[in-house]
Amino acid sequence: MDYKEYITVVENFPKEGIRFKDITTLMENGPVYRQAILDMTDFARNKQIDVVVGPEARGFIVGCPIAVELGLGFVPVRKAGKLPREVLEVDYGLEYGKDSLNIHKGSIQPGQRVLITDDLLATGGTIEATIRMIEQQGGVVAGIAFMIELGYLDGRSRLEEYDVFTLMTY
Ligand code: IMP
Repeated sequence: MDYKEYITVVENFPKEGIRFKDITTLMENGPVYRQAILDMTDFARNKQIDVVVGPEARGFIVGCPIAVELGLGFVPVRKAGKLPREVLEVDYGLEYGKDSLNIHKGSIQPGQRVLITDDLLATGGTIEATIRMIEQQGGVVAGIAFMIELGYLDGRSRLEEYDVFTLMTY
């Protein structure tokens, strides 16, 4: 399937010079959304995954249906201040300044094999921070699946030691 046909490229969003890849037009199409989720799920099959992890908010859109399809649990990664229980916190660099991501302490058991999901790989900073929170808890990152990869930002080079799958590359 040519998934790019269903992505809308929005010029100058959220700021001048950015060509934003909008996945909501893909999600609006039931059969295409379903097929995208199934293709990503196929990548994860036979990897003995124990749990799926995804960063807010679009990581949920991708990760939750994959987790349900695999019959596995889903662990959310959120911005600071959103999770109600004790958290692990990791700072990560943004283009300007930094932000932090949280995960519930004890959400990953030592030795568990984890699939990380998100809509889009840009610089890789979000996923690198997510990996740190999983590995700090003793989890093993067994695969990382994205809908979209922005090849020109080369986030993949930061994820060299991991098994990375994407449905489409720009
Ligand atoms: P990274 O941390 O630089 O890899 O940025 C990835 C994060 O930014 C993902 O969680 C995406 O949801 C978001 N993001 C960056 N660019 C786009 C875009 O063009 N479309 C949708 N999300 C984007």
